[in-house]
Amino acid sequence: MTTIARNLQAVRSRIDRAAAACGRSASEIALLAVSKSFPASHIQEAHAAGQRLFGESYAQEAVKKITALRDADIEWHFIGPVQSNKTAALAAHCQWVHSVERTKIAERLSAARPETLPPLNVCIQVNVSAEATKSGVAAGQELALAARIRDLPRLNLRGLMTIPEPTTDAALQRKRFAALRALKERLMRDGHDLDTLSMGMSDDFEAAIAEGATIVRVGTAIFGARETLRA
Ligand SMILES: *Cc1c(COP(=O)(O)O)cnc(C)c1O
Repeated sequence: MTTIARNLQAVRSRIDRAAAACGRSASEIALLAVSKSFPASHIQEAHAAGQRLFGESYAQEAVKKITALRDADIEWHFIGPVQSNKTAALAAHCQWVHSVERTKIAERLSAARPETLPPLNVCIQVNVSAEATKSGVAAGQELALAARIRDLPRLNLRGLMTIPEPTTDAALQRKRFAALRALKERLMRDGHDLDTLSMGMSDDFEAAIAEGATIVRVGTAIFGARETLRA
């Protein structure tokens, strides 16, 4: 068994244990393997071990890998900051974009989504720890953005995504993820039909699962440490 296959198995067991610990079914939690900075051969190795959802953070790198691996049955999720000159490429190549944080980007993604494909699945990224340097809308601003996305014919708003500040404080991790969950519940009371909380990474996905994560985005624990340049 390869290292990646072994790591995947270990991550899936962690997901199973975290789900069992809070009475959830592990089948409600999708594992997104974050392959940014790793070559297509690593993705193929994970794919051979049964992994089907992959996440990328840099548009150019994503398009290159998606094109190289176009014959594999892979669902591609874009999770990095979206620049407006990359919206057409992302709308054409990805099934999901987790990191929508501006109306203009949402409009451009919708306009560029090819008619031959189903609407693009999107999440609004929310900055739940209110750090100046992190991307995402401030809590509360997702309401207006969600209302706009509802009117865009080629986008399907699925839920919310967050990257909280890194911390080993388990209570603080839970608090941040609970905040995202509460924002999603408010949107649902507002009439949005949402099924996705994209939250939790290698070091904190157990806390995210305890707070309702439906997609965990895991890189390091599957593929190993990334070069610091793109860490
Ligand atoms: C890189 C990245 C991840 C994966 O982080 P790890 O700590 O390596 O698991 C998850 N989400 C986003 C948005 C990322 O950019």
